[in-house]
Order: sequence, then C-alpha cells, then structure tokens
Amino acid sequence: MTTPIPPTDTTTSTNSSIARLLGEIAIDRQESVVPAGLSGKLDLARAAATIRRCTQSAGLSPALTIAEAEELARAFVDGDDGPFGRYGAGHSFPPTEESGLEVDEVLALCALLAAREQWARGAHSVEPPTSGSDEPNAVCPECGSLARLEILLGQYSERYSVCPVCNAYWRIARVGCPHCGERDGHHLVVYTAEQRTGRALVHCLSCRRVWRRLELRGHTTPPDDLFIRTFEPWPEELLLDQRDEVLPVPLRPAKAK
Ligand SMILES: [Zn+2]
Ligand SMILES: [Zn+2]
Repeated sequence: MTTPIPPTDTTTSTNSSIARLLGEIAIDRQESVVPAGLSGKLDLARAAATIRRCTQSAGLSPALTIAEAEELARAFVDGDDGPFGRYGAGHSFPPTEESGLEVDEVLALCALLAAREQWARGAHSVEPPTSGSDEPNAVCPECGSLARLEILLGQYSERYSVCPVCNAYWRIARVGCPHCGERDGHHLVVYTAEQRTGRALVHCLSCRRVWRRLELRGHTTPPDDLFIRTFEPWPEELLLDQRDEVLPVPLRPAKAK
C-alpha cells in the first residue's frame, strides 16, 4: 500500500549540525573501539563524558551534570526513553541552534554518538538473527540496538536492516515488518514524498512503528553518510509524528526489569 504525501521544505542546517557532532566524536575515538555484545556492554563513565561533551557542543542549557549524563547512558543501554523525555523538557538550546531536532532528540542523538564512539566500526555485513524468517529482525545481531532504517541495495533491491550504532547491516526478507513480523502488505503503509525519489517511510499498522527506507540502486554496499541520513529529520516525518497511532523506533529494545 503506497500513500503519497505532499512535499515540504527541508531544514538544510540539520545535516551540518549532525555532521559536526559526529566529526567531533570521531576525532576522539582514537581507535579504541570496544566490542559490543548482545548484552550491550558500554563503558558508562566514558559514555557519560561523551554525552556531556556532545550536549555542551550543541549548546544545551543548563549543562548536564556527570550524574545526569550517566543516567542517559544507562537509559540508552536499557532502552528506557523516559530520561530523554524528562531532560528534554527541562533543558533548551540557544535560539540560534537550528538543528530541526527536538531537545530530547538531540539528547538521544548524543547518547547514540557516545555508543557509536565505542562500538562503531564501519559498514560491515553480518549474519541475520538466527530466528526463523517469520521472526522480527530489527534488533542488531551484534550490539542489540534497533534498526530504524532499511536499505535496498543493488539492482535486485535486496533488503537490509542497518544498525545506527555499530554500522552492521544484515539481510532481511523482501516483505514484512522487521519489528513485529507482520507480513500482510495491507498492514504496511509506504509513504513517499513527491520530489524525493529513493526514500520512503514505512508504517506498520500492526505494531505502529515507523521506520525509513532508502533505495540505493547504484550501490552494493551502504554509503558512508548513512548515519546522517538515518538521523537527519525528514520533513515528511512531521506529518506522521502528529498522529497517535504512530510510534517511533526507540534506540534499543526496552530491557525487562
Ligand atoms: Zn549494532
Ligand atoms: Zn510491525
């Protein structure tokens, strides 16, 4: 089911602000990559320091304390969105900051960059989760984060999920929701914006999740700027954000407490 949505203006400064934060974190990585496991082991002290640096660089006011930054790092690992929304409500950015992202989204972005600092290792193909083909497969087999982007690669449009944290990508079935396994095409609504060829939003009516699809016909491997394209705001997403039946994809699956 394909539904066209009207074109909207795009925010041009977003790419640059995300690219800037990404660049600052990359410089500090110093090749010290920490291997991630499904348990999602993160050096919390280091992640907290990175989150503070990143939010300071973005101009967050008031600045996060070490304890607050560490709480966000832990919330990231636990898949707990609560603290991001809470701190998002109590902080702000200078009026000049025009990232196009809400405060809680920038906090989530900084937590994600902190995890990337430790886990990212360049685009690499991995084996899909060892579940049956009917099982949901949005969870990264390497680090346990959730894919919020699928890409179609090559001339036969092979479908892959991409991990925004460790850069792993894995083959998924041609049809179906990677989050709940829904396979009925009537329950998967594809939104395409006029003038924007090669990209779409997919909304699963069963689990209500929305994720992005990029068609990369000329590519056989993911391009370098995939992270930015995963996180930059898409104006067409605003339309869906306002609807109650739509759920964004969290950074990681919530850990059972
Ligand atoms: Zn991963
Ligand atoms: Zn679903």
